[in-house]
Amino acid sequence: MSNEILNYDKVAEASLAKAKRDGAETMWDRKAAQKTQCGFGEAGVCCRICAMGPCRVSPVPGKGAERGICGANADTIVARNFARMIAGGASAHSDHARDIVHAMHATKAEGPFKIRDEAKLRRISAEWGIEGADTKETYALAHELAEMALGEFGKPFGTQRFLKRAPQARQDVWEREDIAPRAIDMEVTTLMHSTHMGCASDYESIFRRGMRTGMADGWGGSMIGTEFSDILYGTPTAKASSSNLGVIDKDQVNILIHGHDPNLAEMIVLAAENPEFIEMAKAKGAKGINIVGMCCTGNEMTMRHGIKIAGNFYQQEMCIITGAIEAVVVDVQCIFPALPALAKKYHTRFISTSEKAKIAGDMFIKFSEATGLDNANEIIKIAVENFPNRDASKVEIPDIKQDTLVGYSVEAIIDHLDKVVNTNTSDAMGTVKPLTDVIYAGVIRGAAGVVGCNNPKVEHDYAHVTVLKELIKRDVICVVTGCAAQAAAKAGLLTLEAKEMCGRGLKEVCERVNIPPVLHMGSCVDISRILHLVNLCADVKGIDPALLPVVGIAPEWMSEKAVAIANYVVGSGINTYLGIIPQVLGSPNFTKLMTEDCQEFLGAHFVFEKDPLVMVDKIMVDLEDKRTALGI
Ligand code: SF4
Ligand code: SF4
Repeated sequence: MSNEILNYDKVAEASLAKAKRDGAETMWDRKAAQKTQCGFGEAGVCCRICAMGPCRVSPVPGKGAERGICGANADTIVARNFARMIAGGASAHSDHARDIVHAMHATKAEGPFKIRDEAKLRRISAEWGIEGADTKETYALAHELAEMALGEFGKPFGTQRFLKRAPQARQDVWEREDIAPRAIDMEVTTLMHSTHMGCASDYESIFRRGMRTGMADGWGGSMIGTEFSDILYGTPTAKASSSNLGVIDKDQVNILIHGHDPNLAEMIVLAAENPEFIEMAKAKGAKGINIVGMCCTGNEMTMRHGIKIAGNFYQQEMCIITGAIEAVVVDVQCIFPALPALAKKYHTRFISTSEKAKIAGDMFIKFSEATGLDNANEIIKIAVENFPNRDASKVEIPDIKQDTLVGYSVEAIIDHLDKVVNTNTSDAMGTVKPLTDVIYAGVIRGAAGVVGCNNPKVEHDYAHVTVLKELIKRDVICVVTGCAAQAAAKAGLLTLEAKEMCGRGLKEVCERVNIPPVLHMGSCVDISRILHLVNLCADVKGIDPALLPVVGIAPEWMSEKAVAIANYVVGSGINTYLGIIPQVLGSPNFTKLMTEDCQEFLGAHFVFEKDPLVMVDKIMVDLEDKRTALGI
């Protein structure tokens, strides 16, 4: 077992030592078993999309096989592989969104799925042009909006409705470059078609089609997922939470909710409040029921309910290794198939709940909108009844947790900004103008969205936290989502006290607006909140967002979803820095297209940089160049 990549994490060493004692396998054991990973795969030059293959071509031009059996060269193979990652990522986010929309379609006044943010329901309905959006009966309107949203997945004409949120200058780029997505499922399907054997071979064309599919995620699936989740479950407001493995409570029944989709988790949180279950837990010798979250289901639940964050992606096994989790309940995405076997080393029940992500090895309880609360009740009962099976000799919970502020939706940020609007001036309330003002004045040098996963190729959370600390020190305000947000939480960056780590300008802003310098904006689909915020800022100034001193960063990404995200962020005109090099280096042409040439037609590009300190230096040059170009 190699744990040098965990040096940074104070709880990791003890967790892994315990895993060893308990005979439990972790991702680091499996990483070591992989030995040296395949160089062809790493360079993106292997292809197995038809049965003439698998083929692999040389990543070094002029040496070895230059073409697969069909004649595809490294440029085509790399571009196709990359595009298929985008399709995978966009489909995951979008299918998640579709489930949220179906839940909205199933809402009724007597619940449990009901409309919790009626104002937002009416706002989005009006934005989408529904007549009588301000007067229609709530549930009739919700069902009409849901049907309209389902149309966004497969409509035969037009483009995604939320694209209109961008300033005209950006919409013009999308139209000119033909990357404005029409329908989400169609874009994914068409991309799979284009990258089928014997279809597209022009790497630039594949890049553009991939970009369009990524856009269908950010401005389609993810944005629908976020906005409709807010309507259903409430728009997040700033609130306190707590993070890291220490939030697992040895005296309570601990239920870990992991995955992405809030539909089930919301029901579990609701069910856990039922006094009957709390009494049942007490009868079993526990003090109560403690729901803790992981990855993006955790983010969704902390944003709306302040649910404690047990950890991020790489800690999913460590949670179970504490020996104090009665049930792990999962929905979809980023769940190790290894978890059920690990759970069996302890008393933990592993419960998968989605037909789309049925995980073999323990228990499956099929979740649906019709049975959601019943499913949640059953799960809570299983967890409570499992409490007496806990083996006290195996319980070891790291005594480490960190106070954390969460809940910074666009609406919550605007609310905070309103506090600094002088009512004696003509400045309107309810806008992002105070933010653009401080950026234009130079008090803040720019803004960064830090997002993405963990990856065992690098020291966990190190790049996330280093990038964040260095940026706030240099007066760059940061927003975070996903596992990056949880890394920030554990490092104490999501606190008001973190202002002490900032440069003078950002510190002053944090004090006046009463915010941390790093704002938790939610889950991975909630990167659409970041898009919305940046576009509102660009709108205030009447410019293309590509001109703003803003960057996107994924320091430790790993998933296909992260690839889709990086694409739509670049497509939205924001330079995007990747700390893990994508599997594209086998095609110098495609690499150049991503990192340089696309600047020409998109106004943004990718930057690959493994060293977080060097990355920050590059970002600062980027931001200052943007400022100079704007004359600010
Ligand atoms: S599509 Fe071409 S390169 Fe890919 S496996 Fe088939 S023959 Fe080989
Ligand atoms: S940030 Fe990455 S690892 Fe974490 S939940 Fe999102 S996709 Fe999964």
